Amino acid sequence: MLNTIHADALVVGGGIAGLQATVDLADQGYQVALLERQASIGGKMIALSKVFPTLDCCSCITTPRMAAAAHHENVNMFTYCDIQSIERNGDGFVAHVIKKPRYVNESACTGCRECEYACPIHLPDAFDYGLGAHSAVYVPFSTAMPQKALIDIDHCIFCGKCEKACVADAIDFTQTAEEFDIEVGTIVLATGFETTPWDAKKEYGNGRFLNVVDGMMVERFLAPTGPYGHVLRPSDGMQPDSIAGEIGLRAPSPKMIVQTFGGGLLMGFGAVCSSGCNVGHILSGVPQLSLGSIVGGASIVLGAWIMAYLMFVRPQQVKARQERAAHAHA
Ligand code: SF4
Ligand code: SF4
Repeated sequence: MLNTIHADALVVGGGIAGLQATVDLADQGYQVALLERQASIGGKMIALSKVFPTLDCCSCITTPRMAAAAHHENVNMFTYCDIQSIERNGDGFVAHVIKKPRYVNESACTGCRECEYACPIHLPDAFDYGLGAHSAVYVPFSTAMPQKALIDIDHCIFCGKCEKACVADAIDFTQTAEEFDIEVGTIVLATGFETTPWDAKKEYGNGRFLNVVDGMMVERFLAPTGPYGHVLRPSDGMQPDSIAGEIGLRAPSPKMIVQTFGGGLLMGFGAVCSSGCNVGHILSGVPQLSLGSIVGGASIVLGAWIMAYLMFVRPQQVKARQERAAHAHA
């Protein structure tokens, strides 16, 4: 018999949309089960630098909502969990959930990261889109919630150094997956999006050009919490002379970094450039860019202004002049 948890609502996804839905429902007195497949809530938003057009800090927007959801008396938060199935249950639903093993006792772990410093294995960090590294045992990122470690068991060599370093005795290699059910009246799906892999498009070189990066990688370059604090060329770790976002680009110069855009979302835009994202990236990245890129960004803004003038302002002026002429004739 599986353990069953009861709630009014199940929110699937601990990104910004799921967090806001969770807090809104919980503030109204509903019991909410918040479920996230990653080891921390925060989603894509917590990995971003600043949001266009106001350039508000993404951490400043996201972390209060993470804390509000995690500590709300009406919220039961489940991280590192996958939904196996959802079935109708009378007027509501029952979700079958698997909690993946962290190999760390969550109630004992204090998030001190001593295990991480002791671990000899270093792996590409998924939170930094492979631009940085973490140990085989790691806390997902500096503002992760919960601030608890987990072990990448596929890459662990079982040297035992983390066990020795952990004064809380929280490392537990005997942990196994746990299954349980969540019975709810309603479900909010806030599962977010995935970007197209940066090496998946032939027009961007299918991964042959190391300096072609996707939008989320640029965000990690620009974010204060990013691995370097600067935009650096993946090919040689140097600052690029220029940064470009281009559809149908030519083979990139080795001194250049190219941000892919358009076709960036698996769900949504497909192969069509949304224009706005690119302007946003360029503008929010201006302090990091060279003169050529600033001129490029200014050209886009000027172009957009001229288009808006021709489409909206100019027709109004012509119409007003015609009305004045008609009035004068009358
Ligand atoms: S597992 Fe132990 S050493 Fe690692 S973060 Fe948790 S308490 Fe600290
Ligand atoms: S046992 Fe595994 S996780 Fe722990 S320190 Fe060794 S390699 Fe790292």
